[in-house]
Amino acid sequence: MITISDKTLCCGCTACVSACPAQCIVMRRDREGFDYPVINSPDLCVGCGKCEEVCPVLSPAPQNEPLGAYAARSQAHIDGSSSGGVFPALAEIVLAQGGVVFGAVVNDDMTVGHAEAYDMAGVEKMRGSKYVQSDLYASYEDVRYWLQEGRKVLFTGTPCQVAGLHKYLGKPYDGLVTVDVLCHGTPSPGLWEKYVRVLEHQHGAKMEYVCFKDKSESWRHYAFTTSFGSCEYMDDPYMALFVQDMTLRPSCYKCAARDGRSGSDITLSDLWSVHVSAPEMADDRGVSGVYVYTEKGRQLLEASGLAVRSVDIAVSRIDNGGFSDPAGMPDGREEFFKGVHSTGNLIKHMKAYVVRKPIWVRAYRSVRTFLSACKKKILK
Ligand SMILES: Cc1cc2nc3c(=O)[nH]c(=O)nc-3n(C[C@H](O)[C@H](O)[C@H](O)COP(=O)(O)OP(=O)(O)OC[C@H]3O[C@@H](n4cnc5c(N)ncnc54)[C@H](O)[C@@H]3O)c2cc1C
Ligand code: SF4
Ligand code: SF4
Ligand code: SF4
Repeated sequence: MITISDKTLCCGCTACVSACPAQCIVMRRDREGFDYPVINSPDLCVGCGKCEEVCPVLSPAPQNEPLGAYAARSQAHIDGSSSGGVFPALAEIVLAQGGVVFGAVVNDDMTVGHAEAYDMAGVEKMRGSKYVQSDLYASYEDVRYWLQEGRKVLFTGTPCQVAGLHKYLGKPYDGLVTVDVLCHGTPSPGLWEKYVRVLEHQHGAKMEYVCFKDKSESWRHYAFTTSFGSCEYMDDPYMALFVQDMTLRPSCYKCAARDGRSGSDITLSDLWSVHVSAPEMADDRGVSGVYVYTEKGRQLLEASGLAVRSVDIAVSRIDNGGFSDPAGMPDGREEFFKGVHSTGNLIKHMKAYVVRKPIWVRAYRSVRTFLSACKKKILK
């Protein structure tokens, strides 16, 4: 029966839940709003040990070195995507081969979870980074179902979700391609859902739309945008706390899955070092850093027909927090989450933990964003 001596290591991948033949494990939300496995019916446990066998924390995969690193973008998809629009370009190829695509979507009630898509309309909802830990529901079982049916599958997610999928499947499948996003952490779904309800109460209307990384003004200084009917809301402590690493899952501060350890075929990132790695692409619309780990990944990237440019791996990693050692847990994090339950004013409580950047940094950023938006309008 699964026991992780240190709960803070569990990334919530759900592999143990999906693997249990007696269905005696369920995911349950804790006080910080993250889901953890608990044994629901110990008397049903048959002692098979499958839950421990598949846990990527109990037996982590080795670190792989990329076969190549590329700067890439899809002209057809760039505007609706968070980075260079490589994900939808890869999805298009897998769909054309009769495959099924898995990725994270924002549901109608603003919760974030994984879905499967059989056409580009389904893939559309998966585009864009959602800075909330995505609920996998029964995605692992669904992936196995389609593979056993002989369909190709493209599974996308965080490195720990990809690592858990590989452990759950237990063997390689020719038809499976896995793509992870470079990830420095995911915030609490419980906090996000509470925040949405508070904003809805404030606006007297349902949240109808959210974009966590709106790059229409600037890819570098992206904005968080939401709408409640005709109202828009932008003053956002949620994203500020994410960027400060205050609201991440405890396992993110000790992550054992990222940077080549998930077993993915491809990793997608923001190529923040574009000005040195591929200066001709530095126009602030978004460029993906694409890291290819396997021959299968290379074949999919080639089949996408994207114009890619080989970049120096070490240089490409500059300025990207997703490659550095996991963020340390910030001071005050425990107190912050305790306050989320006790406060009568969630937004005020969140704002109290936001560290404001010095005024000159904010002024410089506003001017850069303004100039970048003007340049893009002129070039259109
Ligand atoms: C939580 C999170 C943290 C990230 N941190 C970094 C970072 O530190 N450095 C960096 O370079 N890049 C980071 N990224 C990745 C980057 O922002 C882009 O999402 C990625 O490069 C894909 O860009 P795209 O334009 O090709 O795809 P898009 O068209 O924007 O597609 C988004 C892809 O991300 C997946 N996705 C979106 N949200 C989630 C989620 N909550 N859980 C699982 N999968 C999700 C979707 O399934 C889809 O495959 C992060 C992404 C996420 C979701
Ligand atoms: S040992 Fe087997 S039956 Fe028991 S909880 Fe683990 S997977 Fe389920
Ligand atoms: S890391 Fe995944 S498999 Fe391991 S205990 Fe947590 S949810 Fe289960
Ligand atoms: S930082 Fe690691 S543990 Fe956290 S969501 Fe990303 S891959 Fe998972």
